[in-house]
Amino acid sequence: MSLSYAQQQLEGSYSLTATPFKWKVAEKVQPRSGRGFYDYVNPTSAKHILLLEDMQIGRIKREYGDFLCGKVQINRKLHDLMHLNDIAVTEREIEKSKQQRITCKKCLELVERFSI
Ligand SMILES: [Zn+2]
Repeated sequence: MSLSYAQQQLEGSYSLTATPFKWKVAEKVQPRSGRGFYDYVNPTSAKHILLLEDMQIGRIKREYGDFLCGKVQINRKLHDLMHLNDIAVTEREIEKSKQQRITCKKCLELVERFSI
């Protein structure tokens, strides 16, 4: 019997190949005044699945750059700048992002439902 994706996540192994959309791992940007560019991402904040293409499955509809769980971005411009810039969406950076563990429960639940 194969492990559920959430279980695989917990055990640190990563195999999410049958996802019907392109994605990467990203966290919410949290602007802090007087800090540099790299301080916009708090390493302790939840890791979400960020969609790299528009998708609609059943009643769930998301657009390029949205989090799978639907968490709303307070600062979408900054979010796009951080996560969707030319470098951030290269295959290499996408693969690198996927080495992080997804910690958003809702993202995990949904990706598990969609990936069969
Ligand atoms: Zn999420």
